[in-house]
Amino acid sequence: MAETRTTALPKAPGTAPRAQIGVIGGSGFYSFLDNVTEIAVDTPYGAPSDSLFLGEVAGRQVAFLPRHGRKHHLPPHRINYRANLWALRSVGVRQVLGPCAVGGLRPEYGPGTLLVPDQVVDRTKARAQTYFDGEPLLAGGPRPNVVHVTFADPYCPAGRLAALKAARGRDWEPVDGGTLVVIEGPRFSTRAESRWHAAQGWSVVGMTGHPEAVLARELELCYTSLTLVTDLDAGTEAGEGVSHQEVMQVFSANVGRLREVLFDAVAALPATAERVCLCVRAHDGWNLGIELP
Ligand SMILES: [Zn+2]
Repeated sequence: MAETRTTALPKAPGTAPRAQIGVIGGSGFYSFLDNVTEIAVDTPYGAPSDSLFLGEVAGRQVAFLPRHGRKHHLPPHRINYRANLWALRSVGVRQVLGPCAVGGLRPEYGPGTLLVPDQVVDRTKARAQTYFDGEPLLAGGPRPNVVHVTFADPYCPAGRLAALKAARGRDWEPVDGGTLVVIEGPRFSTRAESRWHAAQGWSVVGMTGHPEAVLARELELCYTSLTLVTDLDAGTEAGEGVSHQEVMQVFSANVGRLREVLFDAVAALPATAERVCLCVRAHDGWNLGIELP
């Protein structure tokens, strides 16, 4: 129902949807696919992190977007999250999988743990995190209304189930649920910050999970976070604290099986038209004042 309402803008010829599922992750996820098509997409919010790379996974069209740019030149606080999600939606994407590297806040969540969170805590400081900020998208264009989306459950329940099922199918027992706390970065946490995060009962800490999920919700996209623990955070381990080298090593060692899980999750996601989750009703009762792409 929301689908027809939010895509009410007449489509120009040749702009038929080119992907249904988006994966925000680097070349390690799409470089093994045949026939990858690169397309540059612009948005009213500027350029996304990179081109979209379109390929087929399990018979479904997937748009991959390197979150940090293909050369990994964008730090977490400089990523244009609004442009990224807008670009994905504009090519037809309605469900997004967002893998990311995180630090474990409990000793049992060591490197190599796959945790599919069900909650997020925003501790970022300076990121544009809404499309409804009262400013026109384009000079002279319509002004978005004030809109408050429901975010009590920030992740798509169907997407979470698909991710959990995919991990189990690859003998990688995932942690089902937990809280991802997102810090501004780019520095890692101090020991005191890390211990405080752990004392709150939060599970893992990262730098990119917010505002991806809330922007997806504002665009009525299903969003699922898959977090890969690459290190124990500073307050949890006894050594010298997290190093970037350590993070990259663990991520590289796990990128192959994470790709397998992502692809299986893509196959397990519901068809676009068959989604019945809360994500597709995020705008029920609201007059947006703008058309979504
Ligand atoms: Zn959903």
